[in-house]
Amino acid sequence: MLFTGISEEMRPLVVVKLGGSMITVKNRPFTPNIQVIDEVSRQVSELREEYLFILVHGGGSYGHPVASEYRISEGFFHPDQLIGLTKVKLRMNELTQLILASLASYNVPAVPITPVSCLTCSSGKVEKFFTEPLRMMLKLGAVPLLPGDVAMDYSEKKFTIISGDSVAAHLATEFNAFKLIYGTDVDGVFTGDPKHDSNANLIPRLSRGMLNSLKASLTVSDVTGGIFRKIEEGFNAAEKGIRVIIGNLTKPGALISIVKDETGILYTMLEPG
Ligand code: ADP
Repeated sequence: MLFTGISEEMRPLVVVKLGGSMITVKNRPFTPNIQVIDEVSRQVSELREEYLFILVHGGGSYGHPVASEYRISEGFFHPDQLIGLTKVKLRMNELTQLILASLASYNVPAVPITPVSCLTCSSGKVEKFFTEPLRMMLKLGAVPLLPGDVAMDYSEKKFTIISGDSVAAHLATEFNAFKLIYGTDVDGVFTGDPKHDSNANLIPRLSRGMLNSLKASLTVSDVTGGIFRKIEEGFNAAEKGIRVIIGNLTKPGALISIVKDETGILYTMLEPG
């Protein structure tokens, strides 16, 4: 069906961050997880009758090896890093293209947007974000698709990496999303890394206070891990009234269950305050 008759602006907005750990095989360079990408596309296609979407994706085994080889997130310290900007873009474009092709095969009208062209940072944080094209796309019912990206930075860093987690939190807040869902390959936030600690328990509702004591009980390397930066970004949105959920989107049907508040699915909800 080409036209549902629903007024486009009436549909609640869901911002979904597709984590690198779910859409790629993280320990195998440049390897996508096509099955998961396709299952997410199928679910977005089904949910579009009732919801608007912004999709953001992480780098996983496409972005991270190249970004760390050229130490892009440390900022500019040597001209040899510049080709690293190109190589990060090359790989991330490949991953965006795979997701775009999958979405198109399910008839989802996604439009890729590259953050480096429409936002600027200061000391690694988003400062200005020209979101007007996204607003116009959403009014039409199109689906903006954005990767985490390299970004220009006004501080002495000159450039940085802006994470998909951060882009997703920023857009969810700006457009007052109904839900912000961080999709990953584990069921949510646990008392320890569930991949290495079989006694770790899922935390269904996580407050900032609990996060601080959780961090204190983990090792330094855990604290610098991606999951905690994601949670920090998530709290920024949760404190502005957005419902923020961290869940496992590698499971078939999980996106639909989380968006529709179906019972029986495990996840972590961030509790503001
Ligand atoms: P993504 O790449 O999907 O955005 P990250 O790799 O940044 O996600 O974070 C998810 C990973 O964090 C999981 O695969 C998990 O192994 C790891 N992790 C470490 N500590 C925890 C924890 N306490 N709770 C949940 N996941 C954790």
